[in-house]
Amino acid sequence: MKFPPLFLGLTVATLLAGCARRPTKLEIYDVVINHVAVVDVLTGQLRPNRVVAISRGKIVEVAPADKDSYAARQYVNGNGRYLIPGLWDMHVHFRGGDSLIAANKKSLTLFLAHGITTVRDAGGDLTTSVLQWSQDMDAGKMPGPRIFTSGPKLDGPGAYWPGSLEVETPVQIRKALDSLQRLRVDYVKIYDSKISGQAYLETIRQAQRRGLKTTGHMPYSVTLAQAVKGGLDATEHLYYVFKACSSREDSITALVRNSLKTPQPLGLFATLPAVYDTYSTAAAANLFKLMAARHTAAVPTLYIQKTLAELAENDHARDTLRAYIDPRIQATYARRLTSARQQSTAAKAFNKKLNTKLMTLVPLMQAAGVTLLAGSDSGPFNSFIYPGSSLQEELVLLVQAGLTPLQALQAATINGAKFMGVAGRTGTIAPGKDADLVLLTGNPLENIGNIRQIDAVISRGKAYPAPALVNLLRGIKNP
Ligand SMILES: [Zn+2]
Repeated sequence: MKFPPLFLGLTVATLLAGCARRPTKLEIYDVVINHVAVVDVLTGQLRPNRVVAISRGKIVEVAPADKDSYAARQYVNGNGRYLIPGLWDMHVHFRGGDSLIAANKKSLTLFLAHGITTVRDAGGDLTTSVLQWSQDMDAGKMPGPRIFTSGPKLDGPGAYWPGSLEVETPVQIRKALDSLQRLRVDYVKIYDSKISGQAYLETIRQAQRRGLKTTGHMPYSVTLAQAVKGGLDATEHLYYVFKACSSREDSITALVRNSLKTPQPLGLFATLPAVYDTYSTAAAANLFKLMAARHTAAVPTLYIQKTLAELAENDHARDTLRAYIDPRIQATYARRLTSARQQSTAAKAFNKKLNTKLMTLVPLMQAAGVTLLAGSDSGPFNSFIYPGSSLQEELVLLVQAGLTPLQALQAATINGAKFMGVAGRTGTIAPGKDADLVLLTGNPLENIGNIRQIDAVISRGKAYPAPALVNLLRGIKNP
């Protein structure tokens, strides 16, 4: 059939208008991944044989493959491979003082090489550098994950971690929050080495009024329910959740509070055996219901707890990733190693028993509707918790604890994006979303361990096939 020229012109124009979002031969994409199985982390569905087109840092199209041909500057073969959203590590640290700035910076490469395209920095003493790296990466000056940061932690007078903002009075809290807002941090992290229960709850109250998110540890002199009702957005590690699962939480809390005026104040670890012995299924169920209703998330950090509990007996000398950890950061591992070796046999045994128990809380929280966030706690001083791989191990442990692989993936993708309030632009694979993706050679929904089988990472719309990742790693390898 022959069309008159005018009609043909209209048809092409109409086609183009009607298919504005469809890939056409006229458009040259930055990256095209073809014939890939797309993992939908919202539903757990696997969409086989898709084409994913990327331009200017965004996913432009997710469509059935083979429909059109796609012009691209870079093609990534998705055949037999699985595409997931880039992973989020929701608890990392950059710290150790100015002499470790360059050493900390190398971890950005480790995150990327392990498929971590976003990290949440949970506080340290290198805020200026962290903000600068973040800016440079956003501007495309260097590769690396997107960073959400708390800036310096808030703690009490005489805080354990250098660089913390020390607060006691409401006025000091106001000034500390002012300074954090001047830094334009993404949330407020509260640590519990010295902060009083009163100052802790007051910090949450003031932050809440300013619309700032709060997460943290917690002094054992207050209850988690108080913090949750006050507006705490996330509780880091499971010690605080665990204490609130005790049928004697109130009396244990009172005991801690009263001991603070004595020469021998009780810390968290002194009370854990009593918490363990009074664990109550009913108290746990009540707490999880409250956390779900108030949208307080939990960051279980199972891998660091396991690694630290086994520190004295595991030999990490041959860990292959040590080649990429700056020797000055490896030197900071000694502190926890020394204290682990000084632990009594009974304390070591209790730690292991405790970890097993803490793992049982994970599927209970998930079932109750508590948001779980995957976090590794990687960073200087946290011995052998290597940036990147430790988040992969966290996901494996979350599944061992009882989550489905999909739930573990959600904890490391969409849940993080929702928590930081950016799920509209990232965290899933759909047109318009940030092109932060990981291409795997195995199906992570069948075996979560397949998140270790990385064939390519797409970060900020740029594709890094495995050889490119190896190259990046070579750049940070110890001489
Ligand atoms: Zn931490």
